Amino acid sequence: MNLSEYIRNVENFPKEGVHFKDITPLLANKDAVSFCLQQLVAMVGDSKIDKVVGIESRGFFFGTLLAQKLNAGFVPIRKPGKLPYSTLKEPYQLEYGMDALEIHEDAIKKRERVLLHDDVLATGGTARAACNLIEKLGGEIVQCNFLIELEFLNGIKKLQNHPVKSLLKY
Ligand code: IMP
Repeated sequence: MNLSEYIRNVENFPKEGVHFKDITPLLANKDAVSFCLQQLVAMVGDSKIDKVVGIESRGFFFGTLLAQKLNAGFVPIRKPGKLPYSTLKEPYQLEYGMDALEIHEDAIKKRERVLLHDDVLATGGTARAACNLIEKLGGEIVQCNFLIELEFLNGIKKLQNHPVKSLLKY
């Protein structure tokens, strides 16, 4: 199956000049979801995973499915103010300005083996901030795992000290 057939390119979203990769056609097709999940699990290999961390919001879709397949728990990383309990916060740089991500302070135990998952790796700022949160809680990042990597943005550079794997590269 060619998964790229299920990724829609949307021009000028969410703003002028951005070519947005839209995974909703993939999510709407049960065979594509099964195939994609199988491939994502294969990317992890035999590594034992205690927690899969998904980044809000598109990282939640396959993040939870992956957690089930890998016999691991799921942990959400969210935008500020969304998580109800005590959180750790990590600010990060956007193209213009700053944003931040949060994780529950009890979501990962020291030395737990963590798989980070998101739909798209672009400039890498989001995934880097997520890695910082996981490491502050004492988690060991086994792999950063993406559906799509926009290679021309070189986000992998920001994740240099971690293994990065992506299903589709553009
Ligand atoms: P980065 O911080 O520049 O790597 O951006 C990655 C974050 O932005 C991820 O959480 C993605 O969900 C989102 N993102 C960036 N580009 C796209 C895209 O083309 N399609 C879907 N999400 C994107």
